[in-house]
Amino acid sequence: MTIHAIQTGSVRIKRSQVRGSGRGLRRRLRVFTDSEWTDWLPTYAWLIDHPEGIIVVDTGQGRHLVDSVRSLHPYHRWEVAFRIEPEEEIGPRLRALGVALRDVKRVLLTHLHVDHDGGLTHFPDTHILVARGELQTARGWVGRMRGYLPNRWPSWFDPIALDLAPDSFGPFAASSRLTMAGDVIAVATPGHTADHLSVIVVDQGTMYVIAGDASYTEALMMTGLIDGVSADEASARTTLGRLQRLAAERPTVYLPTHDPESADRLSNRRLACGRHSAGTR
Ligand SMILES: [Zn+2]
Repeated sequence: MTIHAIQTGSVRIKRSQVRGSGRGLRRRLRVFTDSEWTDWLPTYAWLIDHPEGIIVVDTGQGRHLVDSVRSLHPYHRWEVAFRIEPEEEIGPRLRALGVALRDVKRVLLTHLHVDHDGGLTHFPDTHILVARGELQTARGWVGRMRGYLPNRWPSWFDPIALDLAPDSFGPFAASSRLTMAGDVIAVATPGHTADHLSVIVVDQGTMYVIAGDASYTEALMMTGLIDGVSADEASARTTLGRLQRLAAERPTVYLPTHDPESADRLSNRRLACGRHSAGTR
């Protein structure tokens, strides 16, 4: 089994979105008043080349996001900027890796934010899995007001609603096995969105955590600092605590979507700095 990091363009957001400042509503409003931008950050999607079939986690950015400056939604208009060329979308990226799109057995979306579902158009023949609650949150006009772009979903988009079982996996309370071998597991990591998922790939005793936006960087996960957009601070904190516990108890390679070090961390199998991993480096 191999995991590939696939960069689908890059994004700039406000610093207070990456690292939340203050509490409650003030923390979330701070994103709109902050004048400090991050550097350009990568947006990764992930390919799991598994003996039971290829699984893609997230589809990254789509070229349409470059027009987001014209959006009527205040977040899209003022608080985010995207860069992506057509050949950087996930379809061309996978073909460049020698992967035929019809061979992608399943796509799982950690959540439906626009830089995670932006490449859906490349997967008309693939089973697509989304957490049931996330799908409900993102749909329709209410979804658009929340900053989702359901109007950009392909007309054929009819994903399989994923319900995690109350089976714990490590520190995580709910999970769902995605392979017969039981080595690719979706786990509930609520916070950034209420139904956010992460995917854990277990390979030779190491946990590869495809973390979506559970945190924007490994350092923020390890320090337990929540971002500027999570609606529910308590569940975001609980999730970061669970990720810390996993990193402390098992060798863990932590792979957030926008961490500039994720690809390098994956290729060098660099472990999160928990107690256990420090001893196994
Ligand atoms: Zn997100």
